[in-house]
Amino acid sequence: MDDLDHRSLGSRLELYHQQDDAPGMVFWHPRGYAIYRVLEDYIRRRMRRLGYAEVRTPMVLPRALWERSGHWEKFRDNMFLVEDEDGREMALKPMSCPGHVQIFNKGLRSWRELPIRYAEFGQCHRNEPSGAMHGLMRTRAFEQDDAHVFCREDQAVEEMGRFIDLLDEVYAELGFTGYEVALATRPDQRAGADEQWDWAEARLAEAARARGLSFSVKPGEGAFYGPKLEFILRDRLGRSWQCGTVQLDCVLPGRLDASYVAPDGSRALPVMIHHAVFGSMGRFVGVLLEQHGGALPFWLAPEQVAVAPVSDRQGDYARHVWDMLDGAGLRVVMQDGNETLPRRIVASHEAGIPVMAIVGGREAADNTVTLRRRDGSQSVAKLEEAAALLAVTRPS
Ligand SMILES: [Zn+2]
Repeated sequence: MDDLDHRSLGSRLELYHQQDDAPGMVFWHPRGYAIYRVLEDYIRRRMRRLGYAEVRTPMVLPRALWERSGHWEKFRDNMFLVEDEDGREMALKPMSCPGHVQIFNKGLRSWRELPIRYAEFGQCHRNEPSGAMHGLMRTRAFEQDDAHVFCREDQAVEEMGRFIDLLDEVYAELGFTGYEVALATRPDQRAGADEQWDWAEARLAEAARARGLSFSVKPGEGAFYGPKLEFILRDRLGRSWQCGTVQLDCVLPGRLDASYVAPDGSRALPVMIHHAVFGSMGRFVGVLLEQHGGALPFWLAPEQVAVAPVSDRQGDYARHVWDMLDGAGLRVVMQDGNETLPRRIVASHEAGIPVMAIVGGREAADNTVTLRRRDGSQSVAKLEEAAALLAVTRPS
């Protein structure tokens, strides 16, 4: 396998593993899960600023709900089915949408409240053939940075535009210079009337064009409840992976009895926008690893700074440096031990740690650290300044 394939990197950098008896499942190790958490926190801050409220919905839901949503008929082959103690059929959620509609439906919604926006890091399971699995890129269990917007028809294009702006900004900040866009249209297996599909496909195209995006068309590749825009990133080998998605849905709100009170007092159906910036969090980690060849940017690195005392005599000062950097919100490891300093530098480099804070006798005496970066460049900084200097390299 290529050394820069995410599967090789994942094992060399001790990020995660998979095993034959659990096809398509990921065991995240501490360093891999640290990357995952950084991405979650990053997107969580963004969503909150854009007016999304974070929610959490059940992983296992009854057959009756999946029947009403249409998943039982159109998507059952991809669902893991389970039975409860009383013999009731249940299914692991393959997506979070029906759960979010349950929250929307609690309470009377007025047109003035719309759009209502929910976000969830939803843990989803899809029962796909074990032979189709591929590292982090194709799995049976994955977490989506899922979100649903309930809005009026006249708000849909603007809401989808806000999402496209967010995705565009996030991908650029993560080091991607471009992405491809495809409009996936009505599949053979679908719910809803043709006029609804005409309307939804036209609005998606309008939202994309309004943001200056050109796109290809993938006929028949939409979800059963609505068409979607797919945002595709390429890995180092030129293989393309669908990451972000935005879908416009006129079907599920009606099937699941969602409604709001219109200005004239009547009940109206909201439309539902489904979207995810990363798509599968695990897949996105895989794409990021390959994009950066394992040398992740400072703010994404699972371990950002290795503190290395030159000798035992600087042990106390090294501990103080660790405390200061940790207190500034950085992810710090202690790189002491019996190895020589050059060996510890090599070990930190191989572990993908972008910065070493080297402390010898002079640093301890002056209250400074020597910062050594991946490219071998070094600089000396006052300890308080070093903490502030490193902490600002995070995007807000
Ligand atoms: Zn959804």
